[in-house]
Amino acid sequence: MFDSLFCLIVYTMNSNFKFFIENILQKDIKQFLALSGGDISQAFKIETDSDNYFLKSHQSPQALYMFQAEKLGLESIHKTNTIATPRIIACDQFEHRSFLLMEFIETKAPTRKDMSSLGKQLAALHQTTSKTFGLNSDNFIGSLPQSNQEHHNWKDFYLQERLLPQLRLAKNKGLLTNSDCPPENQISITLEPLLKDVTPSLLHGDLWSGNFLISENGTPYLIDPAVYYGDKEVDIAMTKLFGGFGEHFYEAYYESDAASSKSELKIEIYQLYYLLVHLNLFGRSYHGSVVSILKKYF
Ligand code: ADP
Repeated sequence: MFDSLFCLIVYTMNSNFKFFIENILQKDIKQFLALSGGDISQAFKIETDSDNYFLKSHQSPQALYMFQAEKLGLESIHKTNTIATPRIIACDQFEHRSFLLMEFIETKAPTRKDMSSLGKQLAALHQTTSKTFGLNSDNFIGSLPQSNQEHHNWKDFYLQERLLPQLRLAKNKGLLTNSDCPPENQISITLEPLLKDVTPSLLHGDLWSGNFLISENGTPYLIDPAVYYGDKEVDIAMTKLFGGFGEHFYEAYYESDAASSKSELKIEIYQLYYLLVHLNLFGRSYHGSVVSILKKYF
């Protein structure tokens, strides 16, 4: 969800860890290249004679849970056969280091055609539905925990599992005052008519421009998801939060899904969640955008 500047630096990896990874791959590693730009974890390209691999690693106590949730998310998108995800090779811990090891995707700059493919394939992903909103396991948004407790009603899910936990966290951190925040029952009443008649769709859950890759042959890949079943417009809202994915993406998306509601009102309501997450992770620079949506709708 955060901007990244990409460059490669040859990295001298701890030899025990290198050996551990070689054992998993059953191949000799030629080199580790440190990729700058991973906001949360350290990211590496691992080169071998036959293939290249992508490794994310982190030493925080919750990192293994984060990587396990990411793996589960990538695998659940993969199972839909609608859009590609990098193949996962391992999710494990070595000494105090947790890591996620996957196929390395060689990328190119997206063309209009690639963005159309991404739009079309995302619309297909969103056709994967469920009886309830949420998921049978929790995950993370950035480094913050994200509850996926299941609900039958979308408004209840979005209020209880998305907006309220972030609003309460922002108040606890002193990032929002009581006067910034409308009463919880007022938020609920306002959301009721806006969030009606929603089908639970499988979402990427954190779809900003750093979370898709276009491979050299033009295949779109989704990475770093925070999946759950929710309103498909949540993913669209996130694509529009920091500038949008371009007209070819949206044309292809809506052509493939003519039934989609395209409600601009919902877009801002859904962006509110991501802006609250940014406020809680990065602080006051997001305060103005959060308060302006709170005042506009509630
Ligand atoms: P973080 O969760 O720390 O932000 P990301 O999963 O977003 O880390 O990865 C950091 C960067 O590495 C991404 O912006 C992307 O450009 C690149 N990347 C991620 N996964 C792969 C992959 N499988 N192959 C090639 N590059 C990748």
